[in-house]
Amino acid sequence: MRFNGRRALVTGAAGGIGAAIVRALRAEGAKVAVADRDVSGVEAEAHLPGDLLDPAYADALPEAARAALGGLDIVVNNAGVITRGRVTETTDADWTLSLGVNVEAPFRIARAAIPIMEEAGGGAIVNTASCWGLRPGPNHAVYCMTKAAIASLTQCMGMDHAHQGIRINAVCPNEVNTPMLRTGFAKRGFDPDTAVAELGKTVPLGRIAEPEDIADVVLFLASDAARYMCGALVEVNGGKAVA
Ligand code: NAD
Repeated sequence: MRFNGRRALVTGAAGGIGAAIVRALRAEGAKVAVADRDVSGVEAEAHLPGDLLDPAYADALPEAARAALGGLDIVVNNAGVITRGRVTETTDADWTLSLGVNVEAPFRIARAAIPIMEEAGGGAIVNTASCWGLRPGPNHAVYCMTKAAIASLTQCMGMDHAHQGIRINAVCPNEVNTPMLRTGFAKRGFDPDTAVAELGKTVPLGRIAEPEDIADVVLFLASDAARYMCGALVEVNGGKAVA
């Protein structure tokens, strides 16, 4: 029960990795406020539905979570969207969506959460970047760029806010078996189960990640066991390096 008495806000809580993070935090004693467009199916102590593209919603989320839970010790900026294609195939809408959800929303949430955490004596923020934010990946130029941006923001914030007792780190998954990955396969005409099994063969560990594999690392970064980690980008990739 590492998180007894801790209060956490998780965005993208209805998605594959987000739902696993919420389950794991609650199983270890945390009170969790869940944020996503629709959180009606997610068990939690507080429900804060909304659209992260709405700046006022993102700005207000940390205070809403603090008010609902009686404090805010942990923020997990997990929500994300993926747009595919090279720059020449990227629409203005893809650009606005990707930057809005993957970069601007976590920026707004961190900006609002840091003073709340500082006043309470500290806290932990875990952002979700990607292996594709550390090195380039093919045919997803803007997605990779947004994940590089959140990775950089994490390193900078980790440095800038350590003295306030706030540890800010990021998890960097490679492929994870979630709706984000599976709908991508389906859109391209592949059977998701077959594609996930085939992709697993390319991973040294023999399978792609399940959401729980990522959630466990997020919980570690949010826990006191990571007390000396600030601005770290932790790859969780089953041994598969992005070329
Ligand atoms: P997912 O699609 O299952 O979940 C993402 C969640 O974010 C969804 O529930 C969605 O509703 C929410 N979201 C998206 N836009 C939103 C908005 N405007 N307002 C509110 N909520 C919004 O995807 P996932 O695989 O669980 O992804 C979680 C995180 O992990 C993302 O940041 C993603 O980029 C990252 N990631 C995923 C993989 C992978 O292979 N699945 C790999 C590396 C990184």
